[in-house]
Amino acid sequence: MTSNNASYLIIGAGVFGVSTAYHLIQKYPNASVTLVDRDAYDADSRVAASWDWNKVVRADYDDKVYCRLALEAQDIFKSDPLWQPYFHQTGVYWTCRSSYAQNVITNHKELGRDDDIIALPVAEARKLYGGIFDNADYTGVKEVLINRASGWAAAGDSLRAVTKRCLELGVKYVTADVAALEFDGRGSCTGVKTKSGQVLSATRVVVAAGAFTPTLLEWSAAASGNPGLRAGERILAAGITTGMAQLNEEQYKKYKDMPVGFQGYTPDEGKPFIGTLPPTKDGEMKWWGSKIFTNTREVVPGSHISSPPPTFDYNQWKVPGPLRQDIVESRNLWYGPASANWEMTKHRICWDAFTTTSDFIISPHSASKGLYVATCGSFHGYKFFPVLGKYVVQMLEGELTPELEEKWAWDRQRPDSSENVEYPNAEMKHLLQPASKL
Ligand SMILES: Cc1cc2nc3c(=O)[nH]c(=O)nc-3n(C[C@H](O)[C@H](O)[C@H](O)COP(=O)(O)OP(=O)(O)OC[C@H]3O[C@@H](n4cnc5c(N)ncnc54)[C@H](O)[C@@H]3O)c2cc1C
Repeated sequence: MTSNNASYLIIGAGVFGVSTAYHLIQKYPNASVTLVDRDAYDADSRVAASWDWNKVVRADYDDKVYCRLALEAQDIFKSDPLWQPYFHQTGVYWTCRSSYAQNVITNHKELGRDDDIIALPVAEARKLYGGIFDNADYTGVKEVLINRASGWAAAGDSLRAVTKRCLELGVKYVTADVAALEFDGRGSCTGVKTKSGQVLSATRVVVAAGAFTPTLLEWSAAASGNPGLRAGERILAAGITTGMAQLNEEQYKKYKDMPVGFQGYTPDEGKPFIGTLPPTKDGEMKWWGSKIFTNTREVVPGSHISSPPPTFDYNQWKVPGPLRQDIVESRNLWYGPASANWEMTKHRICWDAFTTTSDFIISPHSASKGLYVATCGSFHGYKFFPVLGKYVVQMLEGELTPELEEKWAWDRQRPDSSENVEYPNAEMKHLLQPASKL
C-alpha cells in the first residue's frame, strides 16, 4: 500500500494531531485523513492543552535538537500567512540560576542564529522594558537571557485556524469520544470504537490524545486482552494551573509591549520555570503555577494510573483555593507586593502528557501493527505546531533520522526524572488537603 491510498485516523485534535493531518493532506491530497476528537474544533471550551489563550513560542533551548526544531517552527510562525497572524514577537526575558543562558547562546551560535540573543548582568537587565521586572525575584540569578526573536502565540485561535484549513483541504473531523482501539484477529490496529458505539476504521491509526493517551491505552489493553498496549512508565499525565489577571487601562498601557518572562530554576530548587505572559488583546496577563501534579485513579479494575478527572471537561475550570494560591505566588515572583490588588479573573487546570526527559513520543507502537503514537508535549509542545506533523509523517514512512527515531521512540532508554525540573512533582489530592502549604 502506498501512502496515497492509505487511510489515516488521528485520535486527538491538539497540535500533534492537527499538524499531522495538515502535513499528511498536503503531501497526499487524495488520502483519507480523519481527525477524531471529543470536542468540536471550534467549541467554546476544550480540554486540549493546545487550546489556550496564549503559549510561549521560543527557541531558547539548551537541548540542540529542540533548539533547531524550535527555530524551524518559529520561522514558519513569522513568515507563513497561516500562522503569522497569531505570533507576537515580544522577545523573552529569562532569569538564569545555572549556565542555561550560555548553553542556549552556544547552541544559537553553532546553528548560525545568534543575532538577537544576549546574556546580561542582573543590574543591567532589570532596567530594561521600563523597569517592569525591577520587583522580580532575582535570588540566586547569575544572569538574564534576552532573546528578541522569541515571543508568544494565540494558541487556541491558531489551532482553530489550522484545523479549519485542514478541513478545507479535505480532512474529515469527527466529534466523538473514543472508548477503545479496534484490532483485527492478528492484533493489527484497524480503527477505534467511540463511546456511542460508532466504529471508525483506517489502515493507520495515530494516537495523539495528549494527557488522555495512557488512559485510552489502558482501556484498549483491557478490551483487547493485549497488555503490551499499556503506556506503563513511558507516559505520565499531569496537570498545571494557569491563572489570569484583568489589567486596567493604565496597567495595560504599561505592560502591553512586555516580553515573555521566565524564572529559571535548577533541580536543587525543586521548581519548574515560572512564566509571565504579556497581556492578550483583551488585556489579560497570564501565569502558570509551580506545581505539576498527577491524579492517580483506577481507570480499569486493578489499574491505577495518573489520568485527568473522569468528567467531560476534566474539571478544568474548577480550580481549588490552594492551586489559585500557587498562581498568586508565581505572580509575586515577578511583580511583588505591587500586584497584590490585581483582579484575578480566570483559572484553568491544563493537562499534558509527560516523559521523564521531556522528549516527545513520535513512534510506531511496538505492540500492534498499524498503530502509532504522537504526543507527550511535556509542557513544551505547542511551539512546534507548524513542524510536528512533518516529523510524524517522516515517522509513518520510516524516514526519521536515526537521532530523532531514537529520541522519540516508544521503546527507548528512559533516564529517571531527577534532572528534569518540569517533571510532575506532586499528587493533586495531597495539594488540596487543608493542611497543605504551597
Ligand atoms: C499550563 C500549560 C502551559 C503550557 N505552555 C506552553 C508554552 O508556553 N509553550 C509551549 O510550547 N508549550 C506549552 N505547553 C505544552 C503544550 O501545550 C502541550 O505540550 C501540547 O499542546 C500538547 O499537544 P497534544 O496534541 O499532545 O495534546 P492536546 O492539545 O491535549 O490534545 C489532545 C486532544 O485529544 C483529545 N482526546 C483525548 N482523549 C480523547 C478521546 N478518548 N477521544 C477523543 N478525543 C480525545 C482531546 O480532546 C484533545 O483535543 C503548556 C502546557 C500546559 C499544560
